[in-house]
Amino acid sequence: IEEQSWKQLTSHLAEWVADSHKHTTDGHVASYIPELANAPSDVLGICIMDAGGLTVVAGDSDFRFTLQSISKVFTLIMALMDRGEAIVFSKVGMEPTGDDFNSMLKLELVEPGIPFNPLINAGAIAISSLIAGKDSEEQVARILQFFREVAHNPTLEINQAVFQSESDTAHRNRSLAYFLKDNGVLDSEVDDVLRTYFSHCSIEVNCTDLARMALVLAHNGVDPIRNQRLIPRRFVQIAKTFMFTCGMYNASGEFAMNVGIPAKSGVSGSILSMVPGQYGIGVVSPPLNRKGNSTAGVHLLGKLSQEFDWSLF
Ligand code: GLN
Repeated sequence: IEEQSWKQLTSHLAEWVADSHKHTTDGHVASYIPELANAPSDVLGICIMDAGGLTVVAGDSDFRFTLQSISKVFTLIMALMDRGEAIVFSKVGMEPTGDDFNSMLKLELVEPGIPFNPLINAGAIAISSLIAGKDSEEQVARILQFFREVAHNPTLEINQAVFQSESDTAHRNRSLAYFLKDNGVLDSEVDDVLRTYFSHCSIEVNCTDLARMALVLAHNGVDPIRNQRLIPRRFVQIAKTFMFTCGMYNASGEFAMNVGIPAKSGVSGSILSMVPGQYGIGVVSPPLNRKGNSTAGVHLLGKLSQEFDWSLF
């Protein structure tokens, strides 16, 4: 059956991409980070990778973009590997918020003022402060090294223009960080933790990198192509659970209903997703819907899920 569906996938993917491409006009490229506003609005690309390393790509699959919120999944994993579950969950909760990803509304609600989950901005900022390293520079070096390992791509770098642009305009993230500092959630200084956070959001990749990173999660922490364990199984289980409940921001319920697989989106219009036990998937299309998810990307994943009955339920 797997071989059959792979054949079907390779022969139809371009046609499904062309069909979903129409939806690029339903959204708007993110502009609150000025550098992201330069992204073209007519791009849609996808890469799907199987456990043997076979890949199928379609559309603008060479397009390069920054990870943005997708990076939060892997910094969460690093924090778990560096500090363990008990410390991580003393700094962030386990529940979706139902609010926008950069909201401050619920920061006071969970005792003692910790963010609801590690995938909203406030939670991811708290997680950034947990990454091991003597200063932000060392944290960022470790993050890059880990992301390169998971993507199996030693050329991954930070896009400095995006980093600078976000750094210069991040008034809201700064407020969130000061709030967390006041609540005693941050170990490090606000400027240092934000430097680490903006850096990992600005790591540049393409769809193939995303698919490879997703493949490792799909195979519970083992890179099946090299047959090498990169992440303990339990931490991948935690990451995938958060992707399912909070990965598409406050549209995670709708995505779970219509697509039914773990996914994480970023404001660059990227989505990392997977079919557990099988494929890693990387999608990008910059125009976003009201909730901040790629319109064409979500449509394409919905179509694929329908065709291949990917929903976990
Ligand atoms: N760097 C972005 C921010 O903090 C990430 C947000 C996102 O992708 N949703 O606003």
